[in-house]
Amino acid sequence: MERIFWAECPHCRGRFYCNHGEMRHAGVELECPFCAAKFLPEQAAALDERTEAPADAGGRERTK
Ligand SMILES: [Zn+2]
Repeated sequence: MERIFWAECPHCRGRFYCNHGEMRHAGVELECPFCAAKFLPEQAAALDERTEAPADAGGRERTK
């Protein structure tokens, strides 16, 4: 199971998840799928790190 984490957009408060291995490192910006804002994980309104993707949230992973 790939590791993912949830990020909450500091602009629109939308929540989406990202691939942990690809995204959760210094200098990699996340792009909000709701308002297209780009921000670093450290700038997220909230981060929720989990070990597996939710069954019902498919398709919102973003890669750069
Ligand atoms: Zn947003």
